[in-house]
Amino acid sequence: QKQVWAKLKDEPTVTADNEHVELVANIGTPEDVVGVKNNGGEGVGLYRTEFLYMGKTELPTEEEQFEAYKSVLDQMGKDQPVVVRTLDIGGDKELSYLKLPEEMNPFLGFRAIRLCLERDDIFRVQLRALLRASVYGNLKIMFPMIATLDEFRQAKALLLEEKENLKSEGKDVSETIEVGIMVEIPSTAVIARQFAKEVDFFSIGTNDLIQYTMAADRMNERVSYLYQPYHPAILNLVSNVIDAAHAEGKWAGMCGEMAGDSIAIPILLGLGLDEFSMSATSILPARTQLRDLSKKELSSYKEQLLAMSTAEEVEAFIKEKTNQ
Ligand code: PEP
Ligand code: MG
Repeated sequence: QKQVWAKLKDEPTVTADNEHVELVANIGTPEDVVGVKNNGGEGVGLYRTEFLYMGKTELPTEEEQFEAYKSVLDQMGKDQPVVVRTLDIGGDKELSYLKLPEEMNPFLGFRAIRLCLERDDIFRVQLRALLRASVYGNLKIMFPMIATLDEFRQAKALLLEEKENLKSEGKDVSETIEVGIMVEIPSTAVIARQFAKEVDFFSIGTNDLIQYTMAADRMNERVSYLYQPYHPAILNLVSNVIDAAHAEGKWAGMCGEMAGDSIAIPILLGLGLDEFSMSATSILPARTQLRDLSKKELSSYKEQLLAMSTAEEVEAFIKEKTNQ
């Protein structure tokens, strides 16, 4: 099995019916890029930048961040996409030096883009570092936990403001940076059509999208039975996001754990997902699996899958169709 995977390391990802999808990796640090390359990743679909901020006593400087982003872009080369997610702190991830008040429901509280828009002093430093690094590769910027169009517009406006600032300081900035959002809050998945007119891409964050849709804490064992990636409600939301992107000529990816799951992969291929971002070690198994799947066949099950009533029904159906 390992040998089959190794052979596919430098091959593109194509399905049995010759459709290409992009298999990219989730990373947390520049050091992780080695693993992405060793496992044949076609890019980075999620760079979680929180680690730059964690395990320290103060905020990372613009220079420190610039070096980290540049390092990832340099290693991936001019063409391979690198999707960097802006700071997603709060929820389960705390920064003691920010001294934020305790909350009753941290996962529903002051986290990610909510914090960044209020503390734009922190956010602007990251945006400047990203913009300066953008000339070294194919950078895409993604905002986490977007719940309203207004949040996206505000975040994008800050990005454009810092871009102008850098240009007036005589610094080079790429003119082709795509700006997208994570879809991990149900409200955003439901009105993806409206978002698709304004964003350049979507990346579906199923780890949180499932938690918020099922109202089941992703860390709580006692309600883990409700954490159901194949629940038809999740599939309907995911499908809505993909269709909305395509209707506006945009692309849709997924960077939650679901993207690397062998039952989910055929479902997502059939729903038309363009980019699958997963842990590096899942890439070659996924590429191997995709070579035996027909996108055309799987798309023909779309309406049937979306109309199913339970996750069990979905799972049994897919297992049978894909001999798992
Ligand atoms: C997600 O929510 O699916 C995601 C990829 O982000 P994180 O796991 O970092 O919350
Ligand atoms: Mg998330």
